[in-house]
Formats: sequence, C-alpha cells, structure tokens
Amino acid sequence: MDLKSKIRVIEDFPEKGISFKDITTLIKDKDAFSQAVNLIVDDLKGMDIDYIAGPEARGFLLGTAVAYALGVGFIPVRKPGKLPGKTISHEYKLEYGSNTLEIHEDAIEKGKKVAIVDDLLATGGTVSSVAKLIESIGGEVVALEFLIELEFLNGRNKLEKYHVNSLVKYD
Ligand code: 5GP
Repeated sequence: MDLKSKIRVIEDFPEKGISFKDITTLIKDKDAFSQAVNLIVDDLKGMDIDYIAGPEARGFLLGTAVAYALGVGFIPVRKPGKLPGKTISHEYKLEYGSNTLEIHEDAIEKGKKVAIVDDLLATGGTVSSVAKLIESIGGEVVALEFLIELEFLNGRNKLEKYHVNSLVKYD
C-alpha cells in the first residue's frame, strides 16, 4: 500500500504557511497502520534493541505499537511537569522560542540500546533533544525511526552519527 496516500495534508495549520502532515488518517486505517509499524519493526530487527523511546504526543502513537510488535518496553519523553518521578530536562531552540522535554532519570539502565520513534522528522531538533536525554542517563541511541521525513529541511544532516530511517518522504 502507498502509505503517502493515507496521510492528509492540511494547509495553514497550526499557522499560516505550514503544510501540516496529518497522520490521524493513516493510523485509523488498520492496514496502513500495521504496514507502517511492521516496516519500522523490520528495520530494527537484528539491532538488538532494548527499548523504544518516543516524544509526546504523536511519538507515543507509533512508538508504543512498535515496541509491542518488537517485544520490548517503551519509554515516554514528555513535556515539562508531566512525568511523576525524578526527571532530567533538555531545552532546545525552535525557529521562534524554545521547547523543553523531560525523561525519568532512572528510565534506562546503563548501556541499554534504544531506538527513538516519532511521527515526523522536520529540522531534527526534537529527536536530537530526545537522543541527548537518553544519552545523558546512560542509554545508547542506535536508531531513529520516522513515519514521515520533510527532506527539504535537511534534519538528517545533524543526525549523521545515527541510523536514520523514514517511510514517507516529502521534498
Ligand atoms: P523537528 O523538531 O524535527 O523540527 O519537528 C518534528 C516534530 O514536530 C515532531 O515531533 C512532529 O510531531 C512535529 N511536527 C512538525 N511538523 C509536523 C507535521 O506537519 N505533521 C506532524 N504530524 N507532526 C509535525
């Protein structure tokens, strides 16, 4: 199946000039959803992954399904104040302003191999922040998996030390 045909593009959301890739239309389609999850799982097989991590909120939608299908646990990375245990934070710059993400400081045992799953790679700022959090608590980031990649933003260039895979590309 052509996964791209299941993604709905909404112009001027959340603000004027942005062409938003809406994945709700893909994940409500059982065949498209399972194909997307299976393609990510296939790419990760043989990498000896211990955990999947994903950022709030759309990273949870795919990340938990991938973790379940791969037979490993899932680690949530969340916006400030959402995780109940002791956390560490990382702040990163956006085009306008900044964003902060948090992880439980005891979420990952030293040296465990982690793959990050998110819905979309744009500038790479979000996934770099998630990777920094994982590495700062002792995890080893081995792969970055995305449903969608906006190739014209060249996010991949700042992720050269990782294995990067995306299923649907927009240029
Ligand atoms: P980046 O940090 O790589 O610039 O942006 C990626 C993050 O922004 C992802 O966590 C993703 O959920 C969100 N994002 C940015 N643009 C879109 C979009 O068009 N569609 C969706 N579904 N998410 C987006």
